[in-house]
Amino acid sequence: MKLIEFGKRFSDETSCEQYLRDLREKEGLVCSKCGCKEHYWDSHNKRWRCKKCGYETTLTSGTVMHGSKLPLMYWFTAIHLLTSTRKTFSASEMQRQLGHKRYQPIWEMMHKLRSVMGLRDGKYKLCDSIELDEGYFSSDNGLEADEAVKRGVGSQKKTKVLVMAESEECVPEKKGQKSRKVGHIKMQVIEDLRASTINAKVEDGVDNGASVIADNAGGHKKLANVVKETDIRTVPGKEAPKVLPWVHVAIANAKKLIDDMYHGVKGKFLQQYLNEFCYKFNRKYFGDRLFERLMICSVSYKPTFEHQLYGSKPKADYTDRCG
Ligand SMILES: [Zn+2]
Repeated sequence: MKLIEFGKRFSDETSCEQYLRDLREKEGLVCSKCGCKEHYWDSHNKRWRCKKCGYETTLTSGTVMHGSKLPLMYWFTAIHLLTSTRKTFSASEMQRQLGHKRYQPIWEMMHKLRSVMGLRDGKYKLCDSIELDEGYFSSDNGLEADEAVKRGVGSQKKTKVLVMAESEECVPEKKGQKSRKVGHIKMQVIEDLRASTINAKVEDGVDNGASVIADNAGGHKKLANVVKETDIRTVPGKEAPKVLPWVHVAIANAKKLIDDMYHGVKGKFLQQYLNEFCYKFNRKYFGDRLFERLMICSVSYKPTFEHQLYGSKPKADYTDRCG
């Protein structure tokens, strides 16, 4: 959506409330107590009431805004700004744009939006032909004062990320174009490079009828247990951009974006930034429709972000719809 159109359409809380009400009714409300799908709108209290059991659903309950004290206009503006650029916004820039006093609530809002982006993409499995590799992202992983920094892939200053990209062979139309074209991608922070860790992520995010191409690293040797076909081969460094072009493009672009925008991202929050990167990468041709898509995603999921802060496994809470 263009900035001027956004300004006209969402000029106050009332216009945001109306949009939210219309969108949630269009998407279909389900009573979280009895599962009934029919509701009355209580205009005085600005909430729905279940026709069967009378249970109340507020405009924001069960959405990314659940329990938030921030004005709806903040959320709408954040969703607009995040979807209007291929890059991203730091929380401090968002805070400045919104003119809000405190940083923390804005930072949380941004991470909650990234959290629902991850939940949405988590619904889809990659299929057909897939490139797989790991990327090592610089991050601040809270080194103890007397702890020595290890070098290489085991460094505490690097966070390991499993990267998978749907990629199929194509005939390059222009000079310099890749011989493979990319579909959807996934990036998942992983604790270690063991085959069991990698296989669990692949089982979770990849259709079992897919075929995976990867180098012959130790952690890739059991991929055949979880997908139909594998092509595990020795890939000399120079060959990697040819054999695994899209995972490497994705890793390079994500690193650049994250490094440019945020300095010293904490390892435990890296997944959030990757969620945003992948969500946008997977919808790069959506153009102006991305605002509404992220809005649908925002009313369909409750963020798991707070849970992640305390290190417990995120619990999906879907009332799902389309992508
Ligand atoms: Zn009910």
